Amino acid sequence: MARKAIKTFNKKFRSHFFALMSFFMACNYAFSQTDYKLDSLNSVINSIPDKQIRIDKIFEILDKNLDVAISLALGERVYALADSVNNQKAQAMALERIGMAYNSYGDHLKASEKLNDAMAMYQSLQDQDGVHKVKRSLGETYRAARNYDVAMDYLNQSLEYFLVKKDSVMLSRIYNRMGAVLFEEIFLEREGLGVKKEFQTPHAETHLIFEKDPQWKLLRDSLMNFMDLAKEMALKKERFDLVISTEILHAAFFTYSGQFDQSVEKFEEILNVIELYDLKEDLPLVLYNLSRLHLPEHLNQPEIAEMYAKQAIEESKKMNIKAYEYMGNNILHQAQAAQGNFELAYKSLLEVIENLKVFTSDELEIKLRTQEYEYQLGQNEVDLRNRRNQLWIVWISTFLIILSFSFFIYLLNRRNKKNKLLLQELNQKNEMILKQNQELEQINAEKDKFFSIIAHDLRGPYANVIGISKILNEEVKKKNYAEIEKIATLIEKSSQKALELLSNLMQWSLSQTKRLNLNPEIIQLNDLVSQNLELFREMAQQKEINLNSDMVEVIQVFADREMLNTVFRNLISNALKFTRTDGRILISATARNGDVIVMVKDTGIGIDSKTLKEIFQLDRKTGRPGTAGEPSSGLGLILCKEFVELMGGKIWLESQVEKGTIIYFTIPSSPLRI
Ligand code: ADP
Repeated sequence: MARKAIKTFNKKFRSHFFALMSFFMACNYAFSQTDYKLDSLNSVINSIPDKQIRIDKIFEILDKNLDVAISLALGERVYALADSVNNQKAQAMALERIGMAYNSYGDHLKASEKLNDAMAMYQSLQDQDGVHKVKRSLGETYRAARNYDVAMDYLNQSLEYFLVKKDSVMLSRIYNRMGAVLFEEIFLEREGLGVKKEFQTPHAETHLIFEKDPQWKLLRDSLMNFMDLAKEMALKKERFDLVISTEILHAAFFTYSGQFDQSVEKFEEILNVIELYDLKEDLPLVLYNLSRLHLPEHLNQPEIAEMYAKQAIEESKKMNIKAYEYMGNNILHQAQAAQGNFELAYKSLLEVIENLKVFTSDELEIKLRTQEYEYQLGQNEVDLRNRRNQLWIVWISTFLIILSFSFFIYLLNRRNKKNKLLLQELNQKNEMILKQNQELEQINAEKDKFFSIIAHDLRGPYANVIGISKILNEEVKKKNYAEIEKIATLIEKSSQKALELLSNLMQWSLSQTKRLNLNPEIIQLNDLVSQNLELFREMAQQKEINLNSDMVEVIQVFADREMLNTVFRNLISNALKFTRTDGRILISATARNGDVIVMVKDTGIGIDSKTLKEIFQLDRKTGRPGTAGEPSSGLGLILCKEFVELMGGKIWLESQVEKGTIIYFTIPSSPLRI
């Protein structure tokens, strides 16, 4: 609420203030005060010995001077000087200057006092020109004091006189001030007409007021008329400074009636004239007005407003006119604030306050201090927003850091997992290698044992043969033929055993050193089995064992013929060896899932469970003599296993002591299975 109230107050005050300042400046009065300048001027004046020449010199300086303080100081000095030489005209002229200087200061009472004194002096001198010039000045003073009726009265008196005299320059000045009076009446007074609000915040429609209301239309037309006349008179004497002064009034009219584009156009035209005739006096004022036109309440282009304001300040500085500098800064801070640059706006405002001493006004100071407070608030808000943004950045960065850290941890975990897996794999491989090593060691140990067994077993028959051979020699000498025959049979048996063992051993060692070539072929199993049965037919008959096959269907296998024969020979020979008289041996075969399962079944003595477990172990001695004392090598089954597996099959046993044994093995039925 409080801020809103301050804003409304500011807005109201601002427009009021601008109107006053614009016209105040349009009068071509300005301040520039430097003691230094005054000191140097005084020393110039002091160097002139002749008082009259000194007076002339001071008036010459006053004509060019725009500094109110200097005008006042030099005015007083020239008045005293004129008094001392009793030059009344010069005294009247000095009073007129002093009066206008007070007017510029805003002390209208003192101004009118001095001007009235001046007028009285001119009258006593019967200087009508002087009297009517002062009347114009009084008109201007009453205008500034907002006493428009009295102002118009004086201006009219002056006008009448100079119309007769046809003094175009004075007429231009008078018409200009009459225009100014009407302008202020339209835009600052006339509250009774209820349209003042429209002018306070002019917009595109504002100028239509003049079309709608005949009273307003009349005022506007009169103002236009005065301005046209002022311009016409100025042009007659090629007084472009006065042309500019009136044109500024015209441009201001466009501004206040909401015709911003026309106003900008007019001010730009003025800028051209200023440049063309090098009349810089009003340049800061024009730039100031252009800046103001671009503020948010008008064209809303604060960047352009800022640019013109800066130019206005620059020009003011060049001319050392504090008032214009003040005005420039006063618009600059608004343009900067409109762009959200509160820090810059605050600095510009401090400049305004610094220059404020020129126009000491409590109301103004309150307003500016309020503005200052507002900018600080604005800046605080910006800071707060920035801090909030910074906080956001901190939050986002924290989040991102946590995210990347989590991702890093995730990657690390994944890598760890991978490493763990690799390590596991490595461990497994190590274990495998260890196991293989152990197996290899075991195999080696088995083989060592096996060879010691074989060596022992081989020694047996040969030791027998040698021992028996010695007996044979003696029996030969005795010519004991019956005994010789017995011994010869023994030698044959022993040699046969050794031979059987040796051939098995040879085949096995070949398979072990991988020098045994596998030559598989399609074989009619029925035929092969028949051939092997034939081979053992006699042996079976001798032991009175029923040796048969129940194979009816033609079954074919894909196998190495020689290996398969060795397998059958060993298995049939074993069955015959460990089956008593009257026993039965049956060979069967069935095809199943691409394999052929062969079964050699006997009704023999069987194998105890302990031996069964060790039957295929190299380092276990499982061999035993057959039921009829047949020799054992203990190598047959191991060889069978080796060959069956080489041909792509498996071998296993089922046995029960005194019931019989079944040996199964499989052989692929076609090449695909190998
Ligand atoms: P060998 O028959 O020359 O002794 P094997 O390796 O062929 O050597 O057999 C090892 C042992 O397995 C035999 O000594 C025997 O104790 C047992 N065996 C093998 N086949 C049979 C069978 N059909 N019935 C009973 N025991 C058997």
